[in-house]
Amino acid sequence: MFKRILIANRGECAIRVIRACNELGIESVAVYSEPDSHALHVKKADKAILIGPDPVKSYLNIHRIVDIALKAKCDAIHPGYGFLSENAEFAQAVLDAGITYIGPSPYAIENMGSKTNARTAMLAAGVPCIPGTEASLTGVEEAVATAQNMGYPVMLKASAGGGGRGIRRCDSDAEVVENYTLTTNEALTAFGNGDLFMEKCIVEPRHIEFQILADSHGNCVHLFERDCSIQRRNQKLIEIAPSNYISDELRSKMGDVAVKAAQAVGYVNAGTVEFLVDKNHDFFFMEMNTRLQVEHTITEAITGVDIVAQQISIAAGEKLPFKQEDLSFKGHAIEFRINAEDPQNNFYPTPGRITRYFSPGGPGIRVDGCVSAGYSIPPHYDSMCAKLTIWAPDWEHAVMRSQRALKEYDIRGVKTTLPFYRHIAASEVFMGGQFDTGFLENYPELLDYKPYDARENIAAAVAVAIAAHAGL
Ligand code: ADP
Ligand code: ADP
Ligand code: MG
Repeated sequence: MFKRILIANRGECAIRVIRACNELGIESVAVYSEPDSHALHVKKADKAILIGPDPVKSYLNIHRIVDIALKAKCDAIHPGYGFLSENAEFAQAVLDAGITYIGPSPYAIENMGSKTNARTAMLAAGVPCIPGTEASLTGVEEAVATAQNMGYPVMLKASAGGGGRGIRRCDSDAEVVENYTLTTNEALTAFGNGDLFMEKCIVEPRHIEFQILADSHGNCVHLFERDCSIQRRNQKLIEIAPSNYISDELRSKMGDVAVKAAQAVGYVNAGTVEFLVDKNHDFFFMEMNTRLQVEHTITEAITGVDIVAQQISIAAGEKLPFKQEDLSFKGHAIEFRINAEDPQNNFYPTPGRITRYFSPGGPGIRVDGCVSAGYSIPPHYDSMCAKLTIWAPDWEHAVMRSQRALKEYDIRGVKTTLPFYRHIAASEVFMGGQFDTGFLENYPELLDYKPYDARENIAAAVAVAIAAHAGL
């Protein structure tokens, strides 16, 4: 087993890995940018080393991070998610330095990281894919011709896309022409690669993904599915495991295909195979994420498997401790991504100082956060500041428990998605448990909630101060 692991990430993601290290008796080394000097991951790791002054470029500085790992005598690096987690060049640089990369091989990252490469590999392996182009489009003329051939609606997608960006639906030739330039530019800015491809748009789909784990001894299992259909602009907000939409039969069929997809590229470590499921319950491969996923916590909740600990054991060359038939799931889990954003102002990010923080507890509640009272959320990073994961024996109970936990959760000073989630969790459409990816667009009234009223807070604070002064 490893002696010391460097975590090339920040925020709740880095803290999650530090927690796994602590439980496995492995030393953790955090890295950070100057604006993150007071971040929680810096305090919680056994050792923390400054990468550099730049808030974002620091976490993308391959050379410097590998150098720090060598100097600190780390025998492995965990990339987390986001940042360098799907960068084959980084994985290769880690290996070249004689350090273990806690993740798949650079070959698997390269092959599955590009959506077009992944489609080619999956078609060859006989995995059902969303109908679409195999290679990148050569220009707008080819795009229009392809769309006409395929039939509208279609999706223009960036080959290198991620995080919901670089995806546009087109319903006509004119929209293909307009979106072609917009999507190319967006992809160039976000991913440094403007290549686009086209897929048939699956109407009213469910996003259902399978968690897989594969060791270096040829064993591969899946840990069932997560329903990530509740999204905004193709980005996940609330995730559920297991899905209320698929039957046991479909679950087992999709799980087998997910394992086959991973095996086709010789995949080792944790990964996620994402599918869209249409109204006829037909399913199509969409992409594979070759890393730990934000929403892995709901899978941990229903299966009892510590996915990060498994990632570390697999990287250390150990065999998976279970076979597919040993795995089962129990109850229902829901994850809410608590973002420092104002849903009523177009989800505009709201970095700033947290003045009060109280996280929920009690049965079935897990909080993975990186903020506390007095902490200032920096403006440079992803706006997710905590994840609330609920577990209960069944769906109805999970909804009730979510309502209870969201009510307990108190974050003041900055606007967050909490009041929005309270409103969603109490809505009949959510309780019904059936969603497609248009859920938020189809129910705009979900945005019509009463935001937290600052005056109530001031009145409460004054009352407390008066009581304290009076010695009550
Ligand atoms: P998940 O399915 O794990 O939630 P996401 O696509 O939401 O995956 O990405 C996880 C994290 O990584 C998010 O913080 C997201 O902003 C970031 N991320 C994902 N892909 C990219 C990318 N290509 N470039 C920059 N950040 C990304
Ligand atoms: P990312 O790498 O950004 O996660 P994905 O390819 O996984 O991109 O797509 C993200 C989301 O975009 C999906 O969950 C779905 O809501 C929507 N989407 C992507 N492709 C299609 C499609 N062909 N038809 C309908 N929706 C799609
Ligand atoms: Mg995706």
